[in-house]
Amino acid sequence: MDLTIISTYRCNSKCQMCYIWKNPTDQKEEVSLETLSKLPGGFDNLNVSGGEPTLRRDLPDLVDLLYPKARILEISSNGLHPEKLVPIIKKYPKIKVRLSLEGDEATSNAIRGEKDGYATKMAGMRALQEAGGEDLGFAFVIQDENVDQLVKVYEMARSMGVELSTSTLHNAWQFYKNDNYFYDRVTVARKVEGLITSMLGSGKPKNWFRAYLNLGLIEKILGHPRLIRCTAGTDFAFIDPWSDVWTCNVRSDLLMGNLARQSWEEIKASADAHKAIQKVHACEQNCWMVTTARTAMRSALIPQVPKIGPLMWVLKNKLKVSMGGAIAFDRYIDYSRVEPSPFKQRTSFLGTKAKAALVRGRATPDARYPLKSFQNN
Ligand code: SF4
Repeated sequence: MDLTIISTYRCNSKCQMCYIWKNPTDQKEEVSLETLSKLPGGFDNLNVSGGEPTLRRDLPDLVDLLYPKARILEISSNGLHPEKLVPIIKKYPKIKVRLSLEGDEATSNAIRGEKDGYATKMAGMRALQEAGGEDLGFAFVIQDENVDQLVKVYEMARSMGVELSTSTLHNAWQFYKNDNYFYDRVTVARKVEGLITSMLGSGKPKNWFRAYLNLGLIEKILGHPRLIRCTAGTDFAFIDPWSDVWTCNVRSDLLMGNLARQSWEEIKASADAHKAIQKVHACEQNCWMVTTARTAMRSALIPQVPKIGPLMWVLKNKLKVSMGGAIAFDRYIDYSRVEPSPFKQRTSFLGTKAKAALVRGRATPDARYPLKSFQNN
């Protein structure tokens, strides 16, 4: 099972597609080491995310606690404080680190509202490499504003010897946002095809399966059903900063329990968890995020091995690309059917005085997540 720990909602970026930064948590109420020590071992991927996890002063202790509990411990960071990550990587070179990067300097800084963000994270990535990091990479959120630069960023990451993971716009309680929509679904989707071809052309099997994951992103961008059904609550879960455990980070009606008040085993066996998982089986959202897609692509018997569908697609198209052929995208994707979506302008917060205000006294999940409906079709 994969687990994402949303360790804080404090964040020093001001992204246009995620409003966590407008909804900071009080650090006194953020999930504690004592609570996290209740997690069992044996997770496949444990992702320490946020908000910005490097803003937690106890991040090194959190890593010491969680590292033995997972096959892969991951830190998802905006990369604005690489000096906090370097000592962690020196101690644990195998930790997976992904730094958010949304394109070239001007584009990334504008989308993320980060003054000097690009320069800081590029220097930070080099520092992490020098520290001995073995699983480093950038994370890119595909949207109309940066999709032109997608292949270029992938090639740049390759030339630096690091990975590129991709996701795309979603509406979710975690992001405090339900108005992320593409301006032009087909244009964005078509440009992802270039990345898929480049990834299949690489010599790394990891990239070939990322190509399939990006095929799923095209379906998501067009508003089509998921390539593989979602297994939220069974193959992955999320813990929010108030220690609430959720099947996923999208729908705010899929609460399973609370790790501060219950044990992990009690949560998994609870009636609330069973009810939430029943709702997942009937869920009509078409999310395709890294966590939801990666877990769906895995064999149910051996998690390190892909399901037969993705495997066959990868083998067939890897061979085709290797022989100089082109992938018949129109055979896999129905471009004649594009779901309508409302137009909602996104605005850069770079250089604005927009500030976050701490809201106190949010005692229940209902109060913490005022947005109730999320459309990801
Ligand atoms: S498809 Fe449904 S259950 Fe799965 S992540 Fe999306 S909202 Fe959650």
